[in-house]
Amino acid sequence: LVEEAAVAVAEHTRWVDDFPTAGVRFADLTPVFADGPSFSAVIAALASAAPDAELVAGIDARGFLLGGGIARTLEVGVLAVRKAGKLPPPVQTCEYSLEYGTAAIEIPGDWMALQGSKVLVVDDVLATGGTLAATVELLERVGAEVVGITVVTEIEALGGRTRLQKYPLTSLMRI
Ligand code: AMP
Repeated sequence: LVEEAAVAVAEHTRWVDDFPTAGVRFADLTPVFADGPSFSAVIAALASAAPDAELVAGIDARGFLLGGGIARTLEVGVLAVRKAGKLPPPVQTCEYSLEYGTAAIEIPGDWMALQGSKVLVVDDVLATGGTLAATVELLERVGAEVVGITVVTEIEALGGRTRLQKYPLTSLMRI
């Protein structure tokens, strides 16, 4: 599963230099997601990372596409981890720094269903790990248990994995 997906990702990723700022090499996964067999292979491989998950949390915005697909495969629900300002109150907020700038993400703040549930967190790219670390912090704050983190592409030089050592972390492609 993982091997087939990794080949599809390598074949279809569009690398864009100096986007969104100078010095960043941007992994554009649009062509991976737009290709049916590639998207299916990616979803199947990511879903295999945490078969015991009870909920899939997808990070704004490409993590939404992945999260929906994985949740359907595992036959569990999906949670959108939103950029700040999109969810109505009450919310839990976590600010963090990015490879390029700062940001804040939010989840519903009063949703008891998250308490004690086993959550698989998914995003398209792991860079510095700031976004995933903030997501894990939010989920743990409301009592969820993070049983896995999975991404399509891991940019190893940025060391994101070292910030997430407490969690099983799988990636389909490492560069
Ligand atoms: P980070 O918090 O630094 O790990 O950044 C991860 C988030 O930013 C993900 O949601 C990615 O979509 C996006 N991102 C950061 N760096 C890149 C990159 N070089 N290529 C594509 N997406 C990136």
